[in-house]
Amino acid sequence: MKIYNTLTKKKEEFVPINPPNVGIYVCGPTVYDYFHIGNARSFVMADIIQRYLRYKGFKVKFVMNLTDVDDKIIKKANEEGVDAKEIAERFSQAFFEDIGKLKVRKADVYPKATEHITEIVELIKKLENKGIAYRTNGDVFYDVLKFDEYGKLSGKKIDELESGARVEINEKKHNPLDFALWKSAKPTEPHWESPWGEGRPGWHIECSAMSMKHLGETFDIHAGGHDLIFPHHENEIAQSEGATGKPFVKYWIHFGFLNIRDEKMSKSLGNFFTAREILKKYPPETIRLLFSQTHYASPLNFSEELLNSVNKGLEKITNFYQTVTGLEEKTKETGGYPDFDIKKYYADFENAMDDDFNTPKAVAVIYDFIKVVNKLISENTDYSKEFYRDVIGFMDKTAEGVLGIVKVDETPAESSTGKIDELLNLFVKIRSEAKKNKNYEIADLIRDELGKLGYILQDTKDGTVIKKKV
Ligand code: AMP
Ligand code: ZN
Repeated sequence: MKIYNTLTKKKEEFVPINPPNVGIYVCGPTVYDYFHIGNARSFVMADIIQRYLRYKGFKVKFVMNLTDVDDKIIKKANEEGVDAKEIAERFSQAFFEDIGKLKVRKADVYPKATEHITEIVELIKKLENKGIAYRTNGDVFYDVLKFDEYGKLSGKKIDELESGARVEINEKKHNPLDFALWKSAKPTEPHWESPWGEGRPGWHIECSAMSMKHLGETFDIHAGGHDLIFPHHENEIAQSEGATGKPFVKYWIHFGFLNIRDEKMSKSLGNFFTAREILKKYPPETIRLLFSQTHYASPLNFSEELLNSVNKGLEKITNFYQTVTGLEEKTKETGGYPDFDIKKYYADFENAMDDDFNTPKAVAVIYDFIKVVNKLISENTDYSKEFYRDVIGFMDKTAEGVLGIVKVDETPAESSTGKIDELLNLFVKIRSEAKKNKNYEIADLIRDELGKLGYILQDTKDGTVIKKKV
């Protein structure tokens, strides 16, 4: 199995450090808003990689962090006049709902930065003791000139980076490329005690501390979007290797951007669709098929026309799956087995995926498989149960098990969860009308009955928020 490694800029044979165990860390969301379909691409492709490694028999430990203390979260909290914690909790919950709808398998650990302050402080202390970090008035910075290999991931030299980087001029820093490990906090911001005074961690140190805590000082795979190569991942390497003196990560994987008219989809440009709004119109399998049809490292231009055309492809897969499951139920044990070698299709699928997770090729293998089986069925349907079971087994293990593109539940695109959300919102509307009319009995009845069904209504300054009991 080969993986393109951003660190060596080569496709390399994948040899885990401690087989069959594989440790993977993926940079997760900053929980200040709903994630967009560009973020979704990174989450889904990471999911396909972990699913395939499990398919291959590796014992995967998959870790995805949640950045739950950050400037963007604080800004949003200030705008809404609420606690930063409330924003982080609200959007962490939304994140879990949305990745669930996208059929992203649960990670083994979802570490949160705010729950790893001790580890973060310890790591910064280590860097300070080694003379790689310095403090200025409650802030602590990483001294990039102390790490000889700085730039090895992004392939840039320090002087090139200095002249090219749009780094913030800050007279507290020795070098413009130095970055904050610990920031002194304003009294209104989230803060923790530390040897440098009250403050909060920088973003990069969070990922170094959380990945090493859960996967060890050296682990197999670290992934994230292409935008994270510099400075985020470059800085993670500098921090971790600076502190431990050991290699941090063996294989670095970076996901290409999802673009809109050749421009990266991003919150700041405003050219985004949230995953939630797309999921109201399309099933998750369409979104996953769309992503699978492009190699994870290439850019992908997103449009609704493209989604609509992928939806047609999905219909083909869905119809096929329904046909063969229907035939499997009807058929007898005794029918014949056609001249058909299913092993060839498993081999083709694995060859595609072994080649740096070539999902477009893997999808082509699945379409080819469907074409051949459809032809066999059109000639004769009197095959044995064993044949249909093999066909279904192939679809379950590859198309569904790895890519997650088989739509088994035949509810239309407006899925049942979408309808439940609409009904819940309707109840919330009726309840606020009741409250306006001082009909507190009805309002309380709605709240209590929904509570029994596991939905908690919380009244906030901006209206009622619905939470699902877990
Ligand atoms: P954020 O919440 O902005 O920290 O991003 C979460 C993940 O989504 C990171 O791995 C980013 O690199 C990735 N990401 C952000 N924008 C895009 C995009 N347009 N296409 C693909 N991945 C993205
Ligand atoms: Zn990270």
